[in-house]
Amino acid sequence: GRETRLRVVLRVRPLTCTETRRGDRRVVHSLGDGTIHVSAARHDATFGFSAVFDAGASQEAVFEGSGMRQLVELALDGFSCTVFAFGQTGSGKTYTLMGPLTQSETPPAAPGLLGLMQRSFACLLEQSRSRGSDLALSASYLEIYNEQVRDLLSPGPPCALPLRWSKTRGFYVENQLSVDFESLEAIADLLLQGSQRRQTSAHALNRHSSRSHALLTIHVRSRAVSARKGRGGGQSITPPTWVPQPSACPSKQGTLCFVDLAGSERVKETGSSGELSVEANNINRSLLALGHCISLLAKARGKRTHIPYRDSKLTRLLARSLGGSGITLMVACISPSSRCLSETLSTLHYASRARRVTTRP
Ligand code: ADP
Ligand code: MG
Repeated sequence: GRETRLRVVLRVRPLTCTETRRGDRRVVHSLGDGTIHVSAARHDATFGFSAVFDAGASQEAVFEGSGMRQLVELALDGFSCTVFAFGQTGSGKTYTLMGPLTQSETPPAAPGLLGLMQRSFACLLEQSRSRGSDLALSASYLEIYNEQVRDLLSPGPPCALPLRWSKTRGFYVENQLSVDFESLEAIADLLLQGSQRRQTSAHALNRHSSRSHALLTIHVRSRAVSARKGRGGGQSITPPTWVPQPSACPSKQGTLCFVDLAGSERVKETGSSGELSVEANNINRSLLALGHCISLLAKARGKRTHIPYRDSKLTRLLARSLGGSGITLMVACISPSSRCLSETLSTLHYASRARRVTTRP
């Protein structure tokens, strides 16, 4: 019930070949110690985060240094945990969460390139085995596309699911599919299937730009078991008297949610028109709503006004992670290129503000 701050880390992606070829300058430099410096013609600013990952940082370094492992452990302990990647289109959000995208026909990405999600799945399964408790794992995968919530795991054409609110559950999606899994292969397969159903379109800034916000949630249900069962098989350990008996042990239910936001973008820069610009406007509107909620949440609790979670589907689904009982990690992603300067500054300001947001897990 104590207040805890949102943990915000920053990742700078390397310059892409195109950016290097056309001679873009690097305007972002890590100073070590979680600080980053932006220097360009009329800008000179330093920002601090819980951790900063420079262009050379490996996927493993991001997993270990971001606090992702602890988040997995907290989910196993029964907390609602969320990690979300945030930043301009093409800044490396999907890469950070899932690694380089591969289609089902192509060979899978090299293990070293796997993202936070696959690494978390491995850690989750490993931990759940070593804890020896009886854990049931299941996954659901949704996207918010043009302000509609769709199930990415149910076969057939996408249909919109209703988003409801109840006093006990908060905002929740009705009739979403939840699929049980027991192995790393099974959950990796669900991720692949779902991400291939996701709406993406190619535009000027990114060949596989995600046009929807995607939320993959792992549900962890632990059935309390007797201390005598579990690992070590036949060993008989007499529990000390203060250890509650199995029947008295409440079962724990944790969640681990990965949110891959569609990128913020200027319609002008992406060359979007027609349907694409409708998508872009919906994306921008929900990101604006998210930004608005974060600014209000960043104020001291006593000074807060009403938080308009209801302004978008995205903010409704993130209400618990941002202002409720969740534990949240935000990975802000930026490009180092001079051409992205204004979007980069906006991401940095947004992310700095998010550091003041607190929740009560
Ligand atoms: P976003 O999801 O933010 O729109 P992507 O994750 O799709 O952006 O990244 C855009 C491009 O940059 C992709 O081709 C991706 O492989 C590449 N990329 C992003 N981050 C990195 C990184 N840290 N190292 C190497 N390539 C990266
Ligand atoms: Mg993406």
